[in-house]
Amino acid sequence: MKIIAAKDYAGISNETAIIIKNQIVAKPDSVIGFATGESPASTYKKLIAMYKEKLISFKDVISFNLDEYLGVPKNNPHSYSYYMRDLLFKHVDIKEENIHSLDGMSEDVICECLSYERRIKEVGGIDLQILGIGRNGHIGFNEPGESYNARTHLAYLDKITVKDNAKYFTTTAKMPTKALSMGIETIMDSKKILLLASGSEKAEAIYKTVCGEISPACPASILRLHPKVTLVLDLESMVLVKKLRSKFNIWKEETKEPVLMEMEN
Ligand code: PGA
Repeated sequence: MKIIAAKDYAGISNETAIIIKNQIVAKPDSVIGFATGESPASTYKKLIAMYKEKLISFKDVISFNLDEYLGVPKNNPHSYSYYMRDLLFKHVDIKEENIHSLDGMSEDVICECLSYERRIKEVGGIDLQILGIGRNGHIGFNEPGESYNARTHLAYLDKITVKDNAKYFTTTAKMPTKALSMGIETIMDSKKILLLASGSEKAEAIYKTVCGEISPACPASILRLHPKVTLVLDLESMVLVKKLRSKFNIWKEETKEPVLMEMEN
């Protein structure tokens, strides 16, 4: 597991955008798994700026959204499909046929999930999966206690997730309690994984991910078993991880460069 320490949210966004840019430059037809939420929002702004400066093109990029709320249509602003279009896809040259997202309105969710897995396989698998992390350690909507063997599936949202995400929903559009999500196995099949976390509210989840037992109780902890995982963390999110904290005291010396560190599993 590699850890890149950034000072704050802006630093995380810079580092993450550079990693994604390098991926696309190295392999223009990269298959990228995109996450939604607050963590990657500013990263996507930076990617749009890079596109406008002609540093990258999305013309051959193939995208797969990580998850989607059940019962929310793609054109609804609460859907993750809408989020990705609004925050990134409509601003860049990605081809419509290369955008993949789960259909939260599907009448046959099993078929929808199987078809998603098939489509990922058909394009050769995900080259780079971007992830946020929930306060409860979830990745995608793989909530604590769910099987590590899951592929794309119908997920029941944890109480903490419902509480955290309810802020995005008005009373007229109530927070769903079910979603479709890539499973842990789907995520672990990705060739590379990039997880971002910012803020002290993520500190416990990061502590458990980096130092805790590898267990479905903290879904993200399984990432330690993946050969190519990079965590991009700000100082607040790593505040509980003492061994990281001492390592990153370098910040006290006013270093402005990010710090890269390799960890033993
Ligand atoms: P956030 O969500 O990026 O909005 O904090 C992350 C997640 O719940 O996976």
